[in-house]
Amino acid sequence: MGDRPRALVTGGAGFLGSHLCERLLAEGYEVVCMDNLITGSLANIEQLFGREGFVFVKHDVTNFIHVPGRLDIILHFASPASPIDYLQLPIQTLKVGSLGTHKALGLAKSKGCRFLLASTSEVYGDPLVHPQREEYWGNVNPVGPRGVYDEAKRFAEALTMAYHRHHGVDTRIVRIFNTYGPRMRAGDGRVVPTFISQALDGEPLTVFGDGSQTRSFCYVDDLVEGIWRLADSDYSDPMNIGNPAEMTVLEFAREIIRAVGSASEIEFRDLPVDDPKVRQPDISLARKELGWEPAVKLADGLEKTIEYFRGLRSAPPAQPVTE
Ligand code: UDP
Repeated sequence: MGDRPRALVTGGAGFLGSHLCERLLAEGYEVVCMDNLITGSLANIEQLFGREGFVFVKHDVTNFIHVPGRLDIILHFASPASPIDYLQLPIQTLKVGSLGTHKALGLAKSKGCRFLLASTSEVYGDPLVHPQREEYWGNVNPVGPRGVYDEAKRFAEALTMAYHRHHGVDTRIVRIFNTYGPRMRAGDGRVVPTFISQALDGEPLTVFGDGSQTRSFCYVDDLVEGIWRLADSDYSDPMNIGNPAEMTVLEFAREIIRAVGSASEIEFRDLPVDDPKVRQPDISLARKELGWEPAVKLADGLEKTIEYFRGLRSAPPAQPVTE
């Protein structure tokens, strides 16, 4: 082990985790990528195997985490993150947000290293304040189907602040708003991979409700840059990172059809329970503290994302991994 800084990324084989591993390696870090591969995939990190300073450890972080040697930062990104994933994995979602965050914070405390929690705009629930500022406490239904994710992340934030205040752990909390880009899982049910796959197949795009609910989509490279700056800052209260460019889901469906050049139509389906009606980050804090704001335009980000999904279709099926 050399003098290079060393990072642990939990959920490192997931969509965001894999992009963070890449960024850390590019910045000269050694990276321990940890994932139980429930929703993450080795395909997301196959380009990193064999890279100097990169190791992958298959582990469920709700159990004791053992990482020998020094660590400078832990980026805790392990969790199912799409509504259908956390509806299908409700207990695992609650466990990774609570027990998993506890284990990861305990490790940060024992290593004396920095800790960054991946939190979410879902802590604001179905917000009654718009756009959402960090001071807003949210409007979450704790017993609804989405509660397993929202409350797990809210607990994770509370635990992170407790470790910060009580144990003096150097912590960061990023509240991530809808993010898209290459390596989202095609079947994860989120609106971006679903609409792109449907448009590429010429199938109707399934707009839930009347499509008037809003979201604000951030390209993954912008998000990673924001997280990078937050990790590097000394700001320990929660911070929104996302793109404030808000649009309705119906407008978004039309944008995808245009970007793919598809003849798909739009089909309306029932709105899922507790689906937030609006969502838009107020990023004044990130602008002020980090000098950060998103730079990638939706059309450009979508082009790269669509290219990725097209590539998946032409690629040969992945070989099973033997351990
Ligand atoms: N959505 C949709 N059709 C789909 C998938 C999602 O209309 O096939 C809607 C969903 O109801 C929500 C928005 O798109 O209003 C974003 O959903 P997503 O699952 O991506 O994440 P969320 O922002 O709800 O966490």
